[in-house]
Amino acid sequence: MIKLYSTNLKTEPVPFREALLKGLAPDKGLFMPESIPVIPPEIIDSFTDMEYHEIAYEVSRRFLKGQIDDEVLKSITKDAYNYEVPLEHVYENKYVMRLDQGPTASFKDFAARMMARLMQHYLTLEHRKLLILTATSGDTGSAIANAYYGLDHIKVVVLFPLDEVSDRQRKQMTTLGKNVQIIGLDAKFDDCQILVKEAFSDSDLDYLGLSSANSINIGRLIPQIVYYFYSFAKLRKGNTDDSVIFSIPSGNFGDMMGGMLAGRMGLPIKKYIISCNENDEFVQFLHTGKYAKIVPSINCLSSAMNVGHPSNISRLVSLYNGVMDETGHISVQPDMEQMNKDLFGVSVTDEETKAMIADAYQKHGLLLEPHGSVGWSGLSKYLAEVGNDSEQLYISLETAHPAKFPEQIQAILGLDPKLPPSLQGLETKKEQFDELDNTYEAFKAYLKKNYK
Ligand SMILES: *Cc1c(COP(=O)(O)O)cnc(C)c1O
Repeated sequence: MIKLYSTNLKTEPVPFREALLKGLAPDKGLFMPESIPVIPPEIIDSFTDMEYHEIAYEVSRRFLKGQIDDEVLKSITKDAYNYEVPLEHVYENKYVMRLDQGPTASFKDFAARMMARLMQHYLTLEHRKLLILTATSGDTGSAIANAYYGLDHIKVVVLFPLDEVSDRQRKQMTTLGKNVQIIGLDAKFDDCQILVKEAFSDSDLDYLGLSSANSINIGRLIPQIVYYFYSFAKLRKGNTDDSVIFSIPSGNFGDMMGGMLAGRMGLPIKKYIISCNENDEFVQFLHTGKYAKIVPSINCLSSAMNVGHPSNISRLVSLYNGVMDETGHISVQPDMEQMNKDLFGVSVTDEETKAMIADAYQKHGLLLEPHGSVGWSGLSKYLAEVGNDSEQLYISLETAHPAKFPEQIQAILGLDPKLPPSLQGLETKKEQFDELDNTYEAFKAYLKKNYK
């Protein structure tokens, strides 16, 4: 059985079920697997003929061995992944993987849907209830709210920064109701995250059975390994020396951690291009070895990536044999040399993001929204600096549907992206959410009043 340790190293390793239901380790560290299962090349070869949900089962069962029944896991993956994962050819051997076909048209559906089902499974076994607290910079909140909506043992509270999410993103959360409560703060995403973290470490709130659904939950990380395997399996040439380079638009670095784990599991990833917006603290860290958060975070077009201190960096640091605590303090320096061999960090400005939306569309008919544009720009900067290899497989991730950003697409391209079915009809639904002051006292009082 693979247990999960805390990146702060002050908690005993725990089984998956416990890490999933807790979210954050008691020492405020993030859970990481004690060992990483390696998938033999011949099994990876066999993925080429499998459907997405079958690959999801094959990848996750290796982490969850002895911790969930095979048949249960099979039905969870099948139920969670009932939508398409398009791999759009752009030019040469370069592709965009569209992770935007789920119920909220964001890649966060991949993680949220599987995590919700895993939690539901364990809570039913234990006759327990949970209150999920989550902070969102836009897409997490709607993906979490939708993934848990209507479930019996789980209630959800989502905090979001009033000015940093688009109308449509907000409506995807605030029109649900039932077991889903939404709170807007006149603050930054990072402030929302601070309140959530404080509630987790407040023993007065233990009675609520708090849990997290942010990308800090290990239950979200494991499903995010799968699409790396999937895209490689479907796009590779079939030679033994096939490899792939991914460009990952990154904010809180959950997506890139999924990719890192995929690599450690044996997926031949030659390079990770870590594409950030102007919140480029990680890019600077790669260059200098010194980590400095960006406070407050910078408000960029790719709003779901406006993260001045990505939580998952402590996991990455741990993977490279270092220790970083939740404040960003590094007590053991990771292997920077190896990290720089594996990763290529780029920062993309808003001007470049907009220009690339226009360029990709004009040159290739490729329709991107701001987050995907940061990813594609990152790839193009990498090619300019390192050189293009027309034979190499490159895959850039598109993490949201362009129709989630209609004003921006309209302003740049003069067209209205067609709404996917999941986003239709939102305009006429009634919104319901509360507003709170950005203080922990106000938030705590709210929780105590509304959840007894
Ligand atoms: C959350 C999000 C990201 C960033 O993903 P991380 O795992 O936080 O790095 C990128 N694009 C979109 C659309 C997102 O919602």
